[in-house]
Amino acid sequence: MTGAVTVAAVVGLLSLLSGVWLGWRLRQTNNPCPTCGVTHAATATSRS
Ligand SMILES: [Zn+2]
Repeated sequence: MTGAVTVAAVVGLLSLLSGVWLGWRLRQTNNPCPTCGVTHAATATSRS
């Protein structure tokens, strides 16, 4: 019983985290550089 609840909680947490991660990745890829108009993949993490 407790194991099933734990598994359900972990699965829910993982799906939530993957959703957040996917949204973050989507926002990163849909945010091209205002100077070049090209999306820089690596270095555009914290400073737009
Ligand atoms: Zn650029």
